[in-house]
Amino acid sequence: MRKTTPSPNAANTAAIVGIEAVHPAPASGESAQKQGDLAATWQGIISEIRSRIQPEIFETWFRRAALVAHEESTVAIAVQNAFARDWLERYHRAVIEESVQEALGGSFSVELRVDPELALPAQASEEEQETPTERAAPTSLIQQGPATSNNASPNLPGSLVHGSDVGLNAKYTFENFVVGPCNRFAHAASVGAAEAPGAAYNPLFLHGNVGLGKTHLLQSLCFSLLDNWEGVRILYLSCETFVNHFIGALENGNIQAFRNKYRNVDVLVVDDIHLLANKERTQEEFFHTFNTLYNAGKQIVLSSDSPPKDIPTLQERLVSRFKWGLVTELETPCYETRVAILKRKSRQRGRELPDDVAGLLAERIDNNIRELEGAITKLFGYSDLSGQPVTPELARTALRDVFSARRGGPTIDNIVAVVTEEFGVKLSDLQSRRRTAAIAFPRQVAMYLARRITRHSLEEVGGHFGGRDHSTVLYAVTKISGLVERDQETAALLSRLLERLGERPL
Ligand code: ADP
Ligand code: MG
Repeated sequence: MRKTTPSPNAANTAAIVGIEAVHPAPASGESAQKQGDLAATWQGIISEIRSRIQPEIFETWFRRAALVAHEESTVAIAVQNAFARDWLERYHRAVIEESVQEALGGSFSVELRVDPELALPAQASEEEQETPTERAAPTSLIQQGPATSNNASPNLPGSLVHGSDVGLNAKYTFENFVVGPCNRFAHAASVGAAEAPGAAYNPLFLHGNVGLGKTHLLQSLCFSLLDNWEGVRILYLSCETFVNHFIGALENGNIQAFRNKYRNVDVLVVDDIHLLANKERTQEEFFHTFNTLYNAGKQIVLSSDSPPKDIPTLQERLVSRFKWGLVTELETPCYETRVAILKRKSRQRGRELPDDVAGLLAERIDNNIRELEGAITKLFGYSDLSGQPVTPELARTALRDVFSARRGGPTIDNIVAVVTEEFGVKLSDLQSRRRTAAIAFPRQVAMYLARRITRHSLEEVGGHFGGRDHSTVLYAVTKISGLVERDQETAALLSRLLERLGERPL
């Protein structure tokens, strides 16, 4: 069994006044009055909190919070589990205190409590049109313990993890995941779901662009569960496998066996759920799988390249279900996180990446962690083969393709800006017909740079400089290349310009 066993249905006497009234207590006399007061007070505090933090942070940490006591000099706020309480304590106490002070006009000491009933799902909105059984409060997975079915079949396609690590990448653990502002919530939520499956964040829906760590987090969650919960039955698979298996079951007429397998697990983790787009029948089946597991209090974890509402043709009822628990985004990592990831990945390979090289790579590769990893592999490979140490120069040579293909590299406009500044000429001069040396030389330099560091053709470059034809550009490139070879001063000038454009000097 699990090592930690908080009981979501523990006796709870605190009055619960959530933002969304989840369990309206019997409204009678004084206590109803008191609850009404607490609710009103909470609304005031909540709006202060809302105004101080980002909406998604609010959604994650305060949506299910409730004011449970308001005394002369103290207030008590309840949240759904210990993890949420600790998180608020650590990162949001100041905001909470400020908001309480602002809303109540005075100084109060704030107590944070745990109330597991708050983990129950919020009431469905009317448009969702569900039957009461569909929306029944889930029984807690923890309380119930692992499923006891004996048909945990290792033959299931995809990766059925049953106390083993079949199909998981051993490197995808929480320990190996670098946390930064871009992924803090997704990480915290995954840790939270692993600590209290079926309780706090169900379903957990992670979304973000490719290469930002969704699969890594999903697998980390599986590992964490496997470590802490003996006999847990996790079904981890890609959406594609779900689709293929469903189609196979339809063809072979063994849909019942399919259902037994999919609905008889403790945790269902489906990677890349956006692949349900345009698959009507599979969506229908997934809907029922989801309901069965959810109503039994089983944890569901999903990843997608876009938020639920943006998955094309996804049925509205699935969109709404995917939003029941926690939807959180993995964003593009910031510079510091990219550096930290590069360093960590290098260390995992038993190498130390010099700071200047890490800085250069993080600057140049800014939107995909998988590419950062690829760059390190390439760089170390190049260094080993050539016997040269890993330096910024080596990185520029080894990763030339990666750097020049990147988004946000220097454009012709950047080149023009640098050249006009260097020579004290104007763009209109470069585009003019004038051929005096004071104008022609900077123009040729600009054309040379444009050919060297952008992917524009000779014609395109000519077009930027007063509609000159390709032979003029070719002449300019040949001339400057020759000068660079022969004349140190020109070489130094070009190196300086290249550096200013963030490129490798000559
Ligand atoms: P996605 O599923 O979002 O396309 P992956 O989870 O496959 O992305 O991540 C791509 C690569 O980047 C993996 O090798 C993963 O280990 C790595 N990665 C992503 N985010 C992080 C992170 N925060 N810390 C360490 N490695 C990461
Ligand atoms: Mg992935």
